[in-house]
Amino acid sequence: MLVKLDTLEKNIKIKSAKKHVAVIGAGFGGLAAAMRMGAKGYQVTVVDKLDIVGGRGSCIEKGGYRFDLGPTIITMPHLLEELWAFCGKRFSNYIDLRAKTPFYTITFPDGTKFHAQQDETLMRKEVARLFPNDLDGYDRFMVDSERRYEFAFSSTNKIGRLPMQRLWDTLKVIPKFALMRADRSVFGNAAKYVKDERLRMALSFHPLFVGGNPFTVTSMWGLVCHLEKTYGVHYAIGGSVAIAKGMAKVISQQGNELRLNSQVDEILVSSGKVTGVKLSSGEDLAADIVISNADSGHTYNQLLRKSKKKRWTDKKIGRQRWSMGLFVWYFGTNNTRSLWKDVDFHTVVNGPRYKGLVNDIFVNGKLSDDMSLYVHRPTVVDSTAAPKNCDTFYALSPVPNLGFKNPIDWQKEAEPYRKKMQDLLEKNLLPGLGKHLTESEIMTPIDFRDKYLSPFGSGFSMEPQMFQSAWFRPHNISENFPGLYLVGAGTHPGPGVPGVLASAEIVAKLIPNADGTFEKSIRKNETNLEYSL
Ligand SMILES: Cc1cc2nc3c(=O)[nH]c(=O)nc-3n(C[C@H](O)[C@H](O)[C@H](O)COP(=O)(O)OP(=O)(O)OC[C@H]3O[C@@H](n4cnc5c(N)ncnc54)[C@H](O)[C@@H]3O)c2cc1C
Repeated sequence: MLVKLDTLEKNIKIKSAKKHVAVIGAGFGGLAAAMRMGAKGYQVTVVDKLDIVGGRGSCIEKGGYRFDLGPTIITMPHLLEELWAFCGKRFSNYIDLRAKTPFYTITFPDGTKFHAQQDETLMRKEVARLFPNDLDGYDRFMVDSERRYEFAFSSTNKIGRLPMQRLWDTLKVIPKFALMRADRSVFGNAAKYVKDERLRMALSFHPLFVGGNPFTVTSMWGLVCHLEKTYGVHYAIGGSVAIAKGMAKVISQQGNELRLNSQVDEILVSSGKVTGVKLSSGEDLAADIVISNADSGHTYNQLLRKSKKKRWTDKKIGRQRWSMGLFVWYFGTNNTRSLWKDVDFHTVVNGPRYKGLVNDIFVNGKLSDDMSLYVHRPTVVDSTAAPKNCDTFYALSPVPNLGFKNPIDWQKEAEPYRKKMQDLLEKNLLPGLGKHLTESEIMTPIDFRDKYLSPFGSGFSMEPQMFQSAWFRPHNISENFPGLYLVGAGTHPGPGVPGVLASAEIVAKLIPNADGTFEKSIRKNETNLEYSL
């Protein structure tokens, strides 16, 4: 009874003071939204089921090793700087972000090693060294990549940083999309410019980092090469979780609350309008606005299971194409700091097949015998990740999600698959690995489903395909429930740290400041007043 009275008192206090925003989820999207809402004058409570902030960008610590679970490549750092500036703070006072070049090394089964560089001269030299006949095509590809970037993020269009809930906003860019052959895939576009299959792979694999199939995802994602070249590839000392912790610090400095180990069971709706959230503990948290950073699929089909939906029905969510699953092996090694000298921070180890493997993952739902890996070794620049003389690694293999007819039985397959991964690493990258292994942890699509409540155990929510992007993706402002907003990978503009930070910026534009005024940058009539407070 005492607890109940406490809660009641708290809710009354919240109601009587500022307008209250409940944020479901402390992923990068939820934390960024909470920071912005705090800066706009709201009282904010962030609720997450995990015991740590950062969601997919959190970490686990074991035996003196820190394993960063998800994002390792931070691009577009100005989005973080702008976020901090919006809150009246300086990002560099909180986070030690370092540019990393060469960006990554891509190895091929024939022994070729391609080092991707930020510096244009060095990168052209690398292309000329390995693929001399493709240098001219590479130059033209980079011009094309810049055009795509300008289209998505330039000051006139900025479709990646503006709301897209009005169909007209998507329709009016279609002629430009057609001109840029957005119907072509990222791979198809790269193949138009360069002939060597290895270079085609190196210029087209990036969608895999946001859950997209390079052979079907729109060529607009070809913008990533320009984006990397212009803004660099960065890493936060202390891992990406250090960024999440910095965000949590700002939230608490704003006087707002972060509740961990608290799962939201339901979004409360009364007379069609959102009124708060119910926690799994049974506690109700009243709120004027709810921002969901839970996956958009989970938001609509679980958290709003008792409410009738116009657009995002269970059937429609089930019909979407979901991004692939991920099998990630996190492992520690000892006495290896001076071993494997040429194994850098980011390495992509290609197996024998590219298209065939991607097809098995996205189309056939089959666990292939071969695999291609992304290997991360943070200890090259970050001594906080492992004990002295030791290394922390993660090796990631894209695998089918759990949405196929006969999903992979990970109870049975996980250990043999991990062993296969270890053998491949011993043979191709880390000779003698077995003798140095210490800690070991794995995550399969089952963990993504159960830990992050990710539909079908997908690694990155809905696949960022053309007809699942912009207006076609679940909107940042719910078309069904006034007071409900969505941030994170499952809403516009899509997955990846820059995408989810942009989703929070968009939501903050859609919601008036606590004093009722709107941000100046908002387009006329952007907010449907029927949805606002
Ligand atoms: C292995 C891996 C590597 C990646 N590498 C990169 C990279 O290098 N660069 C890059 O830019 N991106 C990368 N990404 C993608 C990027 O990490 C994600 O797109 C992004 O972090 C997703 O953020 P989010 O805000 O959408 O939410 P999430 O990180 O998914 O967080 C959502 C949070 O909501 C919580 N939650 C869900 N439901 C509830 C509920 N009902 N109640 C309470 N809490 C709930 C979850 O616990 C979680 O903490 C990677 C992803 C993975 C998995």
